[in-house]
Amino acid sequence: MRVSQFPLFTHKEVPADAEIVSHQLMLRAGMIRKLASGLYTWMPFGLRVLRKVETVVREEMNRAGALELIMPAVQPAELWQESGRWKHYGPELLRLKDRHEREFCFGPTHEEVITDIARRELKSYRQLPVNFYQIQTKFRDEIRPRFGVMRAREFLMKDAYSFHTSESSLAEGYQAMFEAYTRIFQRLGLRFRSVEADSGSIGGSVSREFHVLADSGEDEILSADQGDYAANTELASSPGPTIEKQSPQAAEKRDTPDTDTVEAQARLLALPLDRIVKSVVVMADDTPAVLFVAGDDELNLVKAARALGAEDIRLATTGEAESATGVPKGFIGPMGLPEELRVLVDERAATATNFSSGANEKDRHWINLNWDRDVALPEVADLRLARAGEPAPEGQGKLCSSRGIEVGHIFQLGRKYSEAMNATVLDESGRDQPMYMGCYGIGVSRIVAAAIEQNHDEQGIIWPAPIAPFQLVIIGIGMDRSERVRQAAESLHDQLEAAGVEILLDDRDARPGVKFADAELIGIPHRVVIGDRGLDKGKLEYRARGAEKSEELDYDGVVDSLL
Ligand code: ATP
Ligand code: MG
Ligand code: MG
Ligand code: MG
Repeated sequence: MRVSQFPLFTHKEVPADAEIVSHQLMLRAGMIRKLASGLYTWMPFGLRVLRKVETVVREEMNRAGALELIMPAVQPAELWQESGRWKHYGPELLRLKDRHEREFCFGPTHEEVITDIARRELKSYRQLPVNFYQIQTKFRDEIRPRFGVMRAREFLMKDAYSFHTSESSLAEGYQAMFEAYTRIFQRLGLRFRSVEADSGSIGGSVSREFHVLADSGEDEILSADQGDYAANTELASSPGPTIEKQSPQAAEKRDTPDTDTVEAQARLLALPLDRIVKSVVVMADDTPAVLFVAGDDELNLVKAARALGAEDIRLATTGEAESATGVPKGFIGPMGLPEELRVLVDERAATATNFSSGANEKDRHWINLNWDRDVALPEVADLRLARAGEPAPEGQGKLCSSRGIEVGHIFQLGRKYSEAMNATVLDESGRDQPMYMGCYGIGVSRIVAAAIEQNHDEQGIIWPAPIAPFQLVIIGIGMDRSERVRQAAESLHDQLEAAGVEILLDDRDARPGVKFADAELIGIPHRVVIGDRGLDKGKLEYRARGAEKSEELDYDGVVDSLL
């Protein structure tokens, strides 16, 4: 491929409204263009990467025996009424009406549609287990679309659904998907971790997420330094649908909380919403009651309180909270904590930047979570585990906190949808039984952004080879002036292309500096530079993206040395 025929649409300037590096680089490298909030066009260069990810996902799903299909993106409301989610899914569901005033939604996920297929097509236990999947555009009207395709409204997901006659068959199918996911993320060349997770609005009991590890990740992962235990701290907020976490950048930008947002989020937390006040969280005795508070920070406080075991969480006025605790606004107080936990809290507070602790005039213990920063969930979740008095299940030792980007999520749904929608098969004794179900998602488009978050430098993207849009870029220096350079570059291009290498020849009449900068920005793993000076010595210059130095290669036999 030649840049003259495959224009790059690159930019030097860092786009003002892009907060995280993958979003900036995807715009600068000409991979995506924004149409409206959370809606993006994949430009030809970006699409090559997206397709690579899709291919790996498809190959591994096929290898695991899953069957590809495509379901409609638009789904009739009746199915969602049957499952009960028409009412419960909330404002993330984009609802539509057709010309006959019939209601539909644009699918954020496809449990209902696949369950409808299953109940029509699957009649006997002999047809199970079976796993159907698709790679398809989803729409979720995200409360805060941001970070480009990382949290878009329209995005590409691989979603799979398995059907079983028994719980043990479901567990096997789930394990097979766990292994397929592990292969997928290994093949993509990403550093990742699987963690215990909240089942969110999808439902079910057992679930695990796959996270690409990156400092900018929205999720916080706690993992044991010995053994395999790892969990998403979001778990602390269950039950109820998952709540978005604040990134530090977003937290800085925030001013007064938007009432709609607070209301929506409080609804998600399933809290009564008769009053919304900025206030205090109070925990009493060993089974803490929490007087609640609304606002973004406060949502974190609710999570923190839940992590500490709070069950009764209510809204309160500042006055009520103050009179209950005797501490002024801005305090969270686990009152009457067991002694060993108090000691732990005090130790933590001595080193943590974002909370302090002490006793008030009534000698009741309190913790102050700093209002201006992200609440220290790692510490809080740590306390939760300390309180349980046992190490994390499969792991031991200290819990370490890291950040992750959720790129995959697998669930054992059980019979939630099959019972609600009457999806049964005849079992061996001829009786109708609701099927057991699993569902398995991968954020195909999010993976592209996550890969960049994990692999970049000051100059731009550093693609892991398996998803690089091109493997090698040839830069000709002065191709417009030197016939010798043009011929050498063209011939190398043609030979490598014939050998099956995905190759990009920068044949523009541009200054070398521009070509070098673009090659680094778009992150092609290997680069060859051809110029008159090198050719005089029979040499070319080679450099791997991210390497500190270039090497000289002999022009004769270069194709073999590059392959
Ligand atoms: P999140 O916690 O990030 O909102 P989720 O838990 O709501 O994600 P799932 O319902 O588990 O998402 O969907 C499966 C996968 O789809 C996720 O693991 C994620 O990779 C991807 N995904 C979900 N929402 C988005 C989005 N708004 N933009 C891009 N990818 C998304
Ligand atoms: Mg999630
Ligand atoms: Mg979500
Ligand atoms: Mg999820």
